[in-house]
Amino acid sequence: MKLFMPDRVYIDPKSLEYDTGIMIKEKLETLNIPIIQTKKVEIEGKSPSENYAKAKKTIYLTVNREKKLRKCKPSADYQFALSSSCPGHCEYCYLQTTQGEKPFMKVFANVDEILKVVQEHIDENLPNITTFECGSITDPVALEHLTGSLKKCIEFFSNSENGRLRIITKFNNVDSFLDIKHNDHTKFRFSINTKYIIGKFEHSTSSFEERIEAATKIAKAGYPIGFIIAPIMIYENWKEDYRELLTSLKSQLVDYNKEITFELIQHRFTATAKELILTRFPNTELDLNEEKRQLKWGPYGKFKYVYPKEQSTEIKEYISVLIQDNFINSKIEYFT
Ligand code: SF4
Repeated sequence: MKLFMPDRVYIDPKSLEYDTGIMIKEKLETLNIPIIQTKKVEIEGKSPSENYAKAKKTIYLTVNREKKLRKCKPSADYQFALSSSCPGHCEYCYLQTTQGEKPFMKVFANVDEILKVVQEHIDENLPNITTFECGSITDPVALEHLTGSLKKCIEFFSNSENGRLRIITKFNNVDSFLDIKHNDHTKFRFSINTKYIIGKFEHSTSSFEERIEAATKIAKAGYPIGFIIAPIMIYENWKEDYRELLTSLKSQLVDYNKEITFELIQHRFTATAKELILTRFPNTELDLNEEKRQLKWGPYGKFKYVYPKEQSTEIKEYISVLIQDNFINSKIEYFT
């Protein structure tokens, strides 16, 4: 897909105390992207949906002072962030409820300081291996062409005895990662779904084919790889479509002999998320009917609506069998 370009970038003066900040600013200047130096981002749309659309085209270059990393179960021990929000417009995105009315993207310039905090967490857990997720509040690949920060991170983990990185993305601009000596310390996971779900709900992200092509490139570069199939939805042809998804993956990855992990997440929503989704995407065709769902208590102190037990068991069993039939080298890490 065409690489994302913001309409405007706000720059926190503090970010220019770092080489990465200066480098990103210079890059933006060569791309003729309007830059505003300020401590405050101002987005004034006429409606919530205009605020949302404008925010998704706005970047704020700033710094991340987080010292104590949050846990990130079940996918890793901890999470850290090189950026927040992303240029995608996935209608169901769980970040809808956590990033406010104006989910502009933050890009953090102090990459070395962020990695220092990561190192402290690795040291605290010695002699064990500590795993880190860098895609919990962002898509870490989506802005790489403007920042180069993820490449730096992969190189850091490549040299780390006890740290391991886990990346998750819906974007296909992976070429800058292909020649890194990664040492098998970074696992690339692609968030994948049926063509129907990607086309209908995951606007401004890479297509089904582009993601599979990117996964194939990353596999050929020897990285450990995995797939997150999420959100899994039940709709008219869901079984045929998920079958097609798994057979397409298999046909592209026949030569990949290392383990391939799968994480399976059924579609869920909270009452707050539903309200926001309906404001931003009034014509959404997402199934947000509470009566067809059951309530489940979530780790963030909110109830969420998931499929009833019978349907979630059907999803789990059906997709698990598809994976096992197509990949003898597969490992299903969890279904939730
Ligand atoms: S790509 Fe990921 S982070 Fe971005 S909108 Fe879609 S689900 Fe949310």
